Amino acid sequence: MEDKKVNSFELKKTVLIVDDEEINRDILAMQLSNDFNILEADDGKAAIDLLLDPEHKIDLVVIDVNMPYSGQQVLKDRQENPKLRSIPFFVCTSEKETEESCFYLGANDFIKKPFSDINFSIVIARMKRLIELYEDRSILRDTEREKLTNFFNRDFFKIHAKRLDAELPDIKKDMIAVSINRFRLLNELYGHAFGDKVLLAIRDTMNHCLVTGCRAVFGKDGGSRFIIYAEHHDSYDMLVDKLNESIKAISENINVSFRVGVYPNVDPNLDKETVVGRAEATADTLINNLTKSIEYYDEAKQAKTLHMEELIDNFHQALEEEQFKLYFQPKYNVQGDKPVFASAEVLVRWISPKFGFVSPGDFIPLFEENGLISQLDSYILEKAAEYMSKWQKKYGITIPLSINLSRVNIYNPTLVEDIIKIVDTNKIPREAYYIEITESAFVEDANIVIPVISKIRDSGFKVEIDDFGSGYSSFNALIDLPFDVLKIDMAIIRSMDKSPKVRDIIKMIINLSKTMEAITVAEGVETEEQRKFLKDSGCDVIQGYYFSKPLPIDDFEKLIEKDLI
Ligand code: C2E
Ligand code: MG
Ligand code: MG
Repeated sequence: MEDKKVNSFELKKTVLIVDDEEINRDILAMQLSNDFNILEADDGKAAIDLLLDPEHKIDLVVIDVNMPYSGQQVLKDRQENPKLRSIPFFVCTSEKETEESCFYLGANDFIKKPFSDINFSIVIARMKRLIELYEDRSILRDTEREKLTNFFNRDFFKIHAKRLDAELPDIKKDMIAVSINRFRLLNELYGHAFGDKVLLAIRDTMNHCLVTGCRAVFGKDGGSRFIIYAEHHDSYDMLVDKLNESIKAISENINVSFRVGVYPNVDPNLDKETVVGRAEATADTLINNLTKSIEYYDEAKQAKTLHMEELIDNFHQALEEEQFKLYFQPKYNVQGDKPVFASAEVLVRWISPKFGFVSPGDFIPLFEENGLISQLDSYILEKAAEYMSKWQKKYGITIPLSINLSRVNIYNPTLVEDIIKIVDTNKIPREAYYIEITESAFVEDANIVIPVISKIRDSGFKVEIDDFGSGYSSFNALIDLPFDVLKIDMAIIRSMDKSPKVRDIIKMIINLSKTMEAITVAEGVETEEQRKFLKDSGCDVIQGYYFSKPLPIDDFEKLIEKDLI
């Protein structure tokens, strides 16, 4: 088959002629206009305006030296500005000396005055060649470098980091990640120009913060993440100080903060992506930390973070496969001659085929942070009601249960309706269904919490203040809280053995609770001494290892059968 050549249509390139003398501009324009589109400016300032105007794509500049806002000045400005640096400059000059100084300022080529002596066809060929070279270079740069900062992009950063390893095989190195906190929000609130200013301040600080002579590779991704691979330093406190200074200098009243993660003494055999990831993950542990802006990689801590992430990833499957089990810890009424089984607290356990037994102390705060707790609590509320209903049928009695409700759920607008639906559908009396809410939730956002709790009580359920005395509310605040049961925090019960003052405080809490016509429960009771003191002080109900640990369903049913049937 005949090989047909395609005719490609090439647009003319644009040349900007900058000269304050019209006659010179005219001569140059006349000589160049067959091969190029021509734009003109009559001083350096006007030239820069045109060069930075996105309306014009200028491929080459021909600039005179002697004029208002001189050619040298424009070359100086060009050194500071990556956009200007990406355009080649021909300088028109008649003196050898200026030629040399312009050369050092970055001029690419020269046209000697007077123009009458010049063979323009050679000049035009040189211009075309230079434009081509610059285009090739800019294509290469675009793929290697991040536009704003001119730092390597992530892929090329990793290549250059490996090169540094090869060049300095015997020197220890660190990977440092620096990110700006809430960068997207900063951009939205104060504009992208401000965001760019912050990024450039960070870039400039990084360039100057390492010890003189230290070899380093700098990288940046498209967002606000910087990375440095540098010869080892024992501390990067100076980097933090310098970043603080430079950011403060440009941000005035705007609060800009950053986080630094350091992965020190990198094993050169580790894949660079892994190392960058570890430095970044270390930095990210500081996202919500208002007081600290630098963290060093710690193997154990990192393993914990990874484990947390795994737990979150497994949550939905665990819920579906019913890996969350309800345990029941009985509560005993101690005011009669003999302790009498009164009710039980539902405590969730995660028994995972993958992780084994996971403690609620580990996963509850985690799920509270990311909101998954709402789904878990709904599941527990529902299951608890189903068990109560089952026992009503099986044993003919209602066993009251207390269910822990996370503070996060208080903000669920359908919470009360959901509870009513669950309890009524299972046909159990509302007054046997207790909701435990931790004391701190009451106090944190009382204006929102109190109306919700009141609504729960007004609908016929009982409300318990859990962990009372764990250090948040004053006794005065209690007067305004709607509740039926006050649970004294385990920590207070524990410290009663050590101090007579604590015993006085416990007595005061019990009396206060009585004044409020509430039932008092002591949790975490482990010893006979504690039980006796609490009983003698008028505490109504006791829960704790003294009587029983939280029990799985089979053991709890055995207990019901032994104690109640
Ligand atoms: P909490 O509601 O204050 O529960 C009491 C905790 O004390 C339970 O820990 C219980 O096992 C433990 N405990 C009871 N008696 C003793 C004792 O005599 N000695 C000692 N050392 N400990 C005792 P657990 O089960 O690990 O639960 C921890 C916390 O997790 C609970 O504190 C509660 O805030 C939360 N939690 C547990 N289950 C759920 C749930 O289903 N939903 C929600 N939102 N939170 C739950
Ligand atoms: Mg509780
Ligand atoms: Mg408690």
